[in-house]
Amino acid sequence: MAMLEIKDIEVFYGVIQAIKGISFEVNEGEVIALIGANGAGKTTILHTITGLLSPKKGSVVFEGKDITKVPAHKIVSLGMAHVPEGRRVFAELSVYQNLKMGAYTRKDKAEIAQTLEMVYKRFPRLEERKNQLAGTLSGGEQQMLAMGRALMSHPKIIVMDEPSMGLSPILVNEIFDIIQEVSAGGTTVLLVEQNAKKALSIADRAYVLETGKIVLDGDAKELMNDDSIKKAYLGE
Ligand code: ATP
Repeated sequence: MAMLEIKDIEVFYGVIQAIKGISFEVNEGEVIALIGANGAGKTTILHTITGLLSPKKGSVVFEGKDITKVPAHKIVSLGMAHVPEGRRVFAELSVYQNLKMGAYTRKDKAEIAQTLEMVYKRFPRLEERKNQLAGTLSGGEQQMLAMGRALMSHPKIIVMDEPSMGLSPILVNEIFDIIQEVSAGGTTVLLVEQNAKKALSIADRAYVLETGKIVLDGDAKELMNDDSIKKAYLGE
């Protein structure tokens, strides 16, 4: 059984249909990339999975449980963390306070302290800046904070929306290295990216989205060598 199953979802904004019947699955331990151009529906899919949007049709099943109608905060306690597009850190709170917020579904103080230590180890820059207001961090540091905050919920799966957005090439590499470390640490990853090259380079499998539909899917390395993908998404 797949860890996460998206079954034939259709999602509307008013009368406009953004997702036109999409199915895919994520197995435990995988890194899965959803790639596609602006407006293809990537964010809409992630919001439907994390409970921020409801599909008109279809279902989302996580570890065998239908979570289609489960509210977002409950989904976090089931073990799914969301790193939203544009980071969305709490600008007026310190780095440390932001990280603490990420653990709001957990009770055990000793375990939370342990996770905080792990996050600081993975992101030394966050520890150096733990008392700095999050709004004053650079874009790359805010992305690290958003990822660290998600890890504070000790998720089984982490769902990331465009982690490379607005970052310099060096920082993009750094963020993708960290995603690989998170994956190696045992967390399943579902990644939405416009940077198809980077996403395919770390993913196991990928799904290609065009105007609300999956038009291609398969092994990430094979997709990287697919002529239509090269032309449309890899700028070759
Ligand atoms: P991007 O990479 O630009 O973020 P995306 O693939 O994530 O794009 P979505 O944000 O999911 O795409 O948008 C899919 C479609 O739904 C687009 O046509 C968009 O204009 C539309 N859409 C998104 N949010 C809304 C909204 N709140 N109201 C109406 N239409 C929306």
